[in-house]
Amino acid sequence: MPRIALAALAVATVAVAIPANAQQNIDFSKVEIKTINLGHNTYRLEGQGGNITVAVGSDGIIMVDGQFAPLHDKIKAAIAAISPLPIKYLINTHFHGDHTGGNEAFQKDGAIVVAQDNIRVRLAAGTTNGISGAKTPPAPVGALPKQTYIGGSITLEVGGRKAELTHVNNAHTDGDTWIYFADANVLCTGDTMNNTKRYQTIDYANGGDIRGMIRATDTYLKVANDDTKVMTGHGPLASKADIAEFNAMLKVARERIGKLFDEGKSEAEVIAARPLKDLDAKWAATDEAAINFLKMAYNSFKRS
Ligand SMILES: [Zn+2]
Repeated sequence: MPRIALAALAVATVAVAIPANAQQNIDFSKVEIKTINLGHNTYRLEGQGGNITVAVGSDGIIMVDGQFAPLHDKIKAAIAAISPLPIKYLINTHFHGDHTGGNEAFQKDGAIVVAQDNIRVRLAAGTTNGISGAKTPPAPVGALPKQTYIGGSITLEVGGRKAELTHVNNAHTDGDTWIYFADANVLCTGDTMNNTKRYQTIDYANGGDIRGMIRATDTYLKVANDDTKVMTGHGPLASKADIAEFNAMLKVARERIGKLFDEGKSEAEVIAARPLKDLDAKWAATDEAAINFLKMAYNSFKRS
C-alpha cells in the first residue's frame, strides 16, 4: 500500500512539473468542466488548462480562453447549459496551448477569436520553450485569431455586455491581453499572474519579462477593489489581496535578480547564489521549479 501511494505521489509531482501547455499525459476523457456563477450573467469554467470566463449578453456570448482542443465539446456543452445564445467572441489572453487549443473548433462553430497580434504571429510560426526546448508546431490556419489589435485597449460588445481588452507589453509572453468586465467587476488576467501561490512561468523565449508582469499587476491593483473577482489563468478565483501578494513577490525577485544581473553575474552564478531562498519555501513546489524561476527572471533582463 505505501509503495502504491508513493508511486501515485511521484506521478502527481511529475504532472506538476510538465509545462502547462503540454498536452501529453492528460486524459481528456476524465476531465469534467465545472461551472461557477460569478453573478451578473458571468461565469467561471474550470477544466484542464487555463480557467475560462463566460459573459452572457442579450444576443450573444463572450468567452475568455478556450483550453485544449479535445475539451471543445465538453466546454461547448457547459456553455450551452448556461445559455442557448451563440458564442460571438473567444478572446485569447496569450498563445499557450492550454488557452488557445479550442480556437479552431470554436471558430468553426462561428465564434471570432480576438487577440493581440503577436498571438497570431506565434501560433502561425510555431514556438520553442526556453526552459525545456520543447517545440510547438505551427497551428492550422483555422486556429489563428480572425481579429487582432496591436496595443492599447479595445472594447468588444455583445447585447449590453462590454469586455475591455488591454495589451500589456512583454509580461508572461509578448502577446498578453487582460480583460475587464466592468458591469460584473470581473478582471481576467490570463497568465500575467496566477493564484496557485507558486512562481509563475515567464516565457522569456517568447517575449516574457518579469518587469512586464510587475507592470501588469501594478495596473490590476489600480483597477481592482475589494469586491473584484479576479480570474487568473490558473488557481482558484482570486481577490485584490492575492494580486498584492503576488505583486510583492515579483518585486522582491526583480530587485534581487536584477541587481545580480547588473553586477554582471552569469545565469549559473545567480543560480548558485540562490537569491530567493527565503521565498522558495513558499513559492516553489520543487527545487527544479525554484531554479527555473531564477532562470526565467534572469533571462528577462537580457531584453534590456
Ligand atoms: Zn501561459
